[in-house]
Amino acid sequence: MPRNGSMILSDLTAQRLGVACAKCERRGSYSVAALIARLGPDHRLTDLLDELTDGCPRRGPHGFLDQCAARFGGLADATDSEVPKA
Ligand SMILES: [Zn+2]
Repeated sequence: MPRNGSMILSDLTAQRLGVACAKCERRGSYSVAALIARLGPDHRLTDLLDELTDGCPRRGPHGFLDQCAARFGGLADATDSEVPKA
């Protein structure tokens, strides 16, 4: 699978991956091992971010001028979130 310079799940060294959106206050913390088990080690993080924020009201055509601001980041205190289905 071509990576095109993207980070993939197997590049991660932390045990958990945090995701947060400043605009919709979506946040979660995911087990990297569970993500790899579900999605595979080659899953790109850019694709994963899209999938994790799929329900954000700021995504899609109506959010064009005020896009979802979801980013990966450390969230040691975030509650566990369910790993999305592939
Ligand atoms: Zn958002």
